[in-house]
Amino acid sequence: MALPPKILIVGGGVFGLSTALSLTQRHPESQITLVEASPTIPNPYGSSVDTSRIVRADYASAAYSRLAAAAIERWRNTAWGREGRYTQNGLLLVYPDDSASTSAREYARKSYNNVKRIEGNNVEFLPSKSDVLRVVPAYGDELDVAGGYVNWGSGWSDAAAGVRFARKQLEGTNVVFKTGDVQHVLYDPISNATTGVALADGSSITADLVILATGAWTPKLVDLRGRAVATGQAIAYMRISDEEQRTLENLPTILNFATGIFIIPPRDNLLKIARHAYGYRNPTTVSLGNETVQVSLPEKDVPVPAEGQEAFRDALKQLLPRFADRPFCDTRICWYTDTPRGDFIISYHPAHKGLFLATGGSGHGYKFLPVLGDKIIDALEGRLESELQALWDWNATTPGAHDIFDGDGSRSGERNSNLKEELAKTRKAGTGSAL
Ligand SMILES: Cc1cc2nc3c(=O)[nH]c(=O)nc-3n(C[C@H](O)[C@H](O)[C@H](O)COP(=O)(O)OP(=O)(O)OC[C@H]3O[C@@H](n4cnc5c(N)ncnc54)[C@H](O)[C@@H]3O)c2cc1C
Repeated sequence: MALPPKILIVGGGVFGLSTALSLTQRHPESQITLVEASPTIPNPYGSSVDTSRIVRADYASAAYSRLAAAAIERWRNTAWGREGRYTQNGLLLVYPDDSASTSAREYARKSYNNVKRIEGNNVEFLPSKSDVLRVVPAYGDELDVAGGYVNWGSGWSDAAAGVRFARKQLEGTNVVFKTGDVQHVLYDPISNATTGVALADGSSITADLVILATGAWTPKLVDLRGRAVATGQAIAYMRISDEEQRTLENLPTILNFATGIFIIPPRDNLLKIARHAYGYRNPTTVSLGNETVQVSLPEKDVPVPAEGQEAFRDALKQLLPRFADRPFCDTRICWYTDTPRGDFIISYHPAHKGLFLATGGSGHGYKFLPVLGDKIIDALEGRLESELQALWDWNATTPGAHDIFDGDGSRSGERNSNLKEELAKTRKAGTGSAL
């Protein structure tokens, strides 16, 4: 399918930049504009930007495993991974010895089987705690786990640096960058086709094709109720000494599938702990067409509530007890765009000709930065491979009830916790040192 000449991408994170990179390579004749609300790319509030993101092919789904393997090949062997943007330190997936971890064990087993096919001898099943300690003795005897597996073919990426690199690749191309906050998409009143977008400053940008790569903010622009929701995920950072840095920096990333909590090895004396959970909701009233609806949207500059910080303390007791009482120097809520089964939404909108969505990262989109754009352009051209189309198409998703999604089975924590209520509880309990 030929693409129309005037194309607008909204959003300068992983989904938007990778789309722009592939578009400029495959359609150098197009007039491409990328509009981003943040004055800078990388946007420090975007989901794509952080000290680190795990790059792994460890998926329970074979389609994502294969796509991740293609991305990892780029991270390992091309400029994408150079200058510290990719570090291959391995990934240790563990589960504790309690009944709550049955699904974690199942997920780990499926994920192991898929990744073993790709990484072969890089992957080893670790049926007991002593096996875990045999491969990573530095975690020490206090490590409280029942088993897991290690994949030495996984790594992590400096996520701000990866986004900066993608942005730099677009310099001197046919992609024009603009700063602007899109208020709504414009439609032709008769045909309902997309004609462009309206910006907060009162101006508008016209386009034949609008690609929304607006991450967790997308539910503000199109009705995604039951299809995608912004969920706030907890992250905390602590300062460590030079000696601690040297001890920890070459360890594999550790991910406890039962709690969703993971620790990525530190860089520059900063240790990060994060939680892959159902996340916090932030109900916000927005206007969608003629309707006023409540959707969860990102909230900036809020600390992790006490509940989340306590979960981190418990996890540190289990995984790295010597840091269990160390104060956090910063905490942050980072927003996933969650979909019912954790699948991306890479699809034309069925009701508006010329409107395309590239979103639904569901907490695992970053690693695909070097390869995602090509798949997005395949979908735009109507030739995406059928297995991915079946996962990402608008019609692939039956809207989930009440926006409480199970994801891919790897989530933990409360299912419907409200960010503002949790922050109010934190203040009331006087544990407000959440930074
Ligand atoms: C805590 C956390 C941990 C994660 N860990 C991993 C991991 O280990 N491995 C992994 O692969 N993935 C991970 N992910 C997921 C991954 O980071 C995301 O899937 C991916 O970055 C999403 O990219 P995006 O482009 O959709 O969103 P974003 O990076 O948020 O980009 C969207 C952009 O759109 C802009 N925008 C939004 N609305 C508008 C508007 N109206 N007008 C103009 N601009 C607008 C925003 O300003 C933003 O810059 C994690 C995510 C989080 C939050």
